[in-house]
Amino acid sequence: MTKVRALVLERQHELALRDIDLPLDVGPGMVGIAIHTVGVCGSDVHYYTHGKIGPFVVEAPMVLGHEAAGTISAVGAGVTHLKVGDRVCMEPGIPDANSRASRLGMYNVDPAVSFWATPPVHGVLTAEVVHPANYTFKLPDHVSFAEGAMVEPFAVGMQAASKARIAPGDTAVVLGAGPIGTMVALAALAGGCARVMVADLAQPKLDIAAQYQGIIPVNIRDKNVVEEVARLTEGWGADVVFECSGSPQAWKTIMELPRPGGTIVVVGLPVEPVAVDIAGASIKELRIENVFRYAHQYDRAIALIASGKVDLKPLISATFAFEDSVKAFDRAVEARPDDVKIQIRMHE
Ligand SMILES: [Zn+2]
Repeated sequence: MTKVRALVLERQHELALRDIDLPLDVGPGMVGIAIHTVGVCGSDVHYYTHGKIGPFVVEAPMVLGHEAAGTISAVGAGVTHLKVGDRVCMEPGIPDANSRASRLGMYNVDPAVSFWATPPVHGVLTAEVVHPANYTFKLPDHVSFAEGAMVEPFAVGMQAASKARIAPGDTAVVLGAGPIGTMVALAALAGGCARVMVADLAQPKLDIAAQYQGIIPVNIRDKNVVEEVARLTEGWGADVVFECSGSPQAWKTIMELPRPGGTIVVVGLPVEPVAVDIAGASIKELRIENVFRYAHQYDRAIALIASGKVDLKPLISATFAFEDSVKAFDRAVEARPDDVKIQIRMHE
């Protein structure tokens, strides 16, 4: 164990920048990474404000943060694709490579997956971490650390777009213009959608999404999404609907949005079980897909960012120094409607 300074969630509502013991031995197949930038995720904030997410309860002090980029500082035995000095970003979830889910290629749903900043696993808001090289991805020179730290949430969008099986020219609808909804919309456009309607009731969020070509913002305070989709598609319906709001309200009319034979991709999670209109799905033979994090998306996400087809930089709302991490979290708790992603920079 090595004593290192980290942002520690002591318990619900209590954050501290302090020294903590973390394992930093770089074993075979592992790399050491000097962390540069970490994004603040809704889940980090939720552990801070609520002390738990579903079955995951903060019962001991835990380092927060899982959206990170940095520089390789050490390379363990057997690692050949990375070297000291490489700029990288990391997948925060490590499955059991021999599990049945992993062998099926669905390592994200391996019940044994260990994920940064999900109790009891420590996150990465600290100077140095050790991680499996196989879940560590090199960033091209022209992709910044800030963009590298955006790959994690963008990978969720990539997973959603992949599950949708988009065809070129598709029309999509995204319900919810939060950070994930916006990432999903960008991945859907990159995946071939001609246009993506994004619906929300917060105008500042819609304004940010609407900066991107191909996104059609709809404020559900003054417009009805079902009518807007019908108008846009001449009554046929959307090819793909991405539910990213997590709102039970969304499920009341969601079956009216897709075209016959269309698809619903569920990304947002309602806190309580919701009623689903199965008959409405049946008469259109809808396909309903679910998304849990991502698998095999990091290299593709990095390639899209590097190509210039996806620009995530406008989604970075504010950057705080590591010493101001608690301030960064309190800003995230405010949930300003024009904040998309807040990041913390460990050093210059
Ligand atoms: Zn996240």
